[in-house]
Amino acid sequence: MSDQKEYRSGFVAVIGKPNVGKSTLINALMGQKIAAVSPRPQTTRKQQLGILSMDNAQLIFTDTPGLHFEKHKLGKRMNSEALLALMDSDVIMFVVDIFESISDEDVMIADILKEGKLKVPVILALNKIDKVSSERLESKTKRYLELVPNAEKCFISSVTNKGLDELVSKIIEFLPENPAFFPEEQVTDYIEREISADLIREAALIILRDEVPHSIAIRIDEFTERGTDGAYIQATMFVERDSQKGIVIGKGGDMIKKISTHARVQIENMSGRKVFLNLRVKVKKNWRNDDHTLSLFGFKDKKKR
Ligand code: GDP
Ligand code: MG
Repeated sequence: MSDQKEYRSGFVAVIGKPNVGKSTLINALMGQKIAAVSPRPQTTRKQQLGILSMDNAQLIFTDTPGLHFEKHKLGKRMNSEALLALMDSDVIMFVVDIFESISDEDVMIADILKEGKLKVPVILALNKIDKVSSERLESKTKRYLELVPNAEKCFISSVTNKGLDELVSKIIEFLPENPAFFPEEQVTDYIEREISADLIREAALIILRDEVPHSIAIRIDEFTERGTDGAYIQATMFVERDSQKGIVIGKGGDMIKKISTHARVQIENMSGRKVFLNLRVKVKKNWRNDDHTLSLFGFKDKKKR
């Protein structure tokens, strides 16, 4: 009757161990810096959204933190977050790095996906093909292809964008017929705060190196528009110990200044406007093991719902 094409929309859970290129892939798909990318693993702690709005479809990516084994509570929560994101999605995109050999973590993820309990279709995205010569591609990928035999396979490079169009088409095939979940222009506003927090955490990890390992949580206290082309952000970095606070601030405040500048530039690139960033540091003892604090920072305990 109508020549209007059906519109599809749904949730795509992105899963894969740290450093395989999940954030880079989402950035490449979105055509802008939306997820924090870092050469160091585990920058992304929270599940965050990247929303790709097209003429015929809207793809909502949930960037699940990599499954991994960790002693403290936060590690365990990441696992349940990841599992929930998987089950709630319309399609799972399992990202692997074909340049590296298969590790226990890949196998663990594959096992979860293979069990079929999730009842969600899987796309295996074999990333970083630009690092492998075409002669070696086949031998490199053989084991990966056996990991999840029922998955749709896609060879991609998130750096050269090779294979990304095919990947998007395959994802869309799995999405249900739905109107768009989010109005197109609302998309960036909606997630900007969250991304900014991630970019600040990323800046801290890069600038501080291993001195304050993963003990930093970021809270955005204020995010307001300044005129038509700028934003004011007030954020607090929480550390676990007084000694860490000293390190983060640095001599005469030069560490926090560096972190702030690095983060501000990234946030400006992401949001395409000027940003005034006001950063401060507070000590919150042992926040990683404190349920209340964890929920304050958005690490929701899904079991309690
Ligand atoms: P994540 O932990 O899975 O989110 O991984 P990131 O997106 O942070 O990427 C980890 C590293 O791999 C970064 O240094 C990226 O630049 C790099 N990377 C990601 N995708 C590709 C790719 O397709 N080719 C190459 N050569 N490098 C990539
Ligand atoms: Mg990431």
